This record gives sequence, structure tokens and C-alpha cells, in this order.
Amino acid sequence: MNLILLGPPGAGKGTQAKRLEDKFGIVQLSTGDMLRAAVASGSELGKKAKAIMDAGDLVSDEIVVAMISERVDQPDCAKGFILDGFPRTVPQAKALDAMLAEKGLRIDHVIELAVDEQILFERIRTRVAETPESERRADDNEETLRNRLGVYHEQTAPIIPYYKDTGALKSVDGMAGIDEVSGQLEAILSD
Ligand code: ADP
Repeated sequence: MNLILLGPPGAGKGTQAKRLEDKFGIVQLSTGDMLRAAVASGSELGKKAKAIMDAGDLVSDEIVVAMISERVDQPDCAKGFILDGFPRTVPQAKALDAMLAEKGLRIDHVIELAVDEQILFERIRTRVAETPESERRADDNEETLRNRLGVYHEQTAPIIPYYKDTGALKSVDGMAGIDEVSGQLEAILSD
């Protein structure tokens, strides 16, 4: 079973993906985590990505599509995967469809975590303020956060109508408690 979790930064995609991994034996693939690992390793890719990520902008479609393509070929993805933070642009969504079709794979569910963005912004701002600087992600500061949300609106939100048109999109209430959100997701996936 292969799925995509959609939603703005801070909507809880990572938290829910971890729970689905345990429940369904599928693997979370977070392009954000993969890129942070590349930055930490000091690889050429990491060097290229760091400044872009620190500003809250998007690294190129080409890079993330290649990263995901390589990753889904790994044996631990045999039972399926959860895409978290990818696709993030309509061209990425189209490239994903083409790439999976070539591998004989497909996406079974696209699920949006629907959230109130004003409340979300306050939540992340509080989290940033309460986390000591040494423990914060390089892109966790108010200015970058504003930019990440702006980028989400401009470049990522248009993939919601894209998946609505393909008929694959489902939505859960991302403002509900963590257990309630998990319950709604499991109901969709067990259908
Ligand atoms: P957030 O916590 O804002 O949801 P992520 O951890 O998913 O962010 O990603 C952090 C950063 O990594 C993004 O701001 C962006 O620079 C880069 N990134 C992650 N996924 C993608 C993607 N699919 N396309 C382009 N850039 C990405």
C-alpha cells in the first residue's frame, strides 16, 4: 500500500506517518529527513541543499524526484511507503506518477491533513520559542517559517486540486487530537 500525506508544515504528517509505519509495516519516506541527512553527511547534494533549506525555499524537483525514485527501489519498501513532504509541487506530482508507472507501482491513497493555518502558525511559533537554539532545526525560526508557509501556498497547495481531479484525494481533520487523526487515517486505509 502506497500513500501520500499532504498538509502544510506542522500539520502532523511526520507524527502520523510514524504511527502508520508501525501499524501497517510500510515505510515513511520524508524528503525533508533525507535532505537533512544529506546536509549532515556533507555530501555534494547536502552542500547544494543547505542554503535553500535554511531559507525555507524548495530544492529542485529533479533532486527530490531522483531521491525518491532510488529510495522506493530499496527492499524495505516492498510492502509499501508513505510519502511525507513529497510531492511538493505539481511538476513533482506528475513526475511521481510517471516514475511509479515505469516501476509498475501506483499510489493507493492521497490523504490531506486539513488544518486551520492560523492556529498552526501559532503552534509552531510557540514550539520554536520554547526549544533551545541548540536543539532547533536550522529552518525553525519565525522568518523562515513564514517563508515555508508562503511557499506552501504558492507551490504546494495547487497539488490538492490536482489530486482532487484524479479522484484520489481524501481528507481528515488534522486539528483533532493525535489519536483521533490516527483513527480517521486507519479507517480510510482499512477500507
Ligand atoms: P516542513 O517541516 O516545513 O514540513 P520538511 O522537513 O518536509 O519541512 O522539509 C524541510 C525543507 O527541505 C523544505 O523547506 C525544503 O527546503 C526541503 N524539501 C523537503 N521536501 C522537498 C520537496 N519535495 N521538494 C523540494 N524541497 C523539499
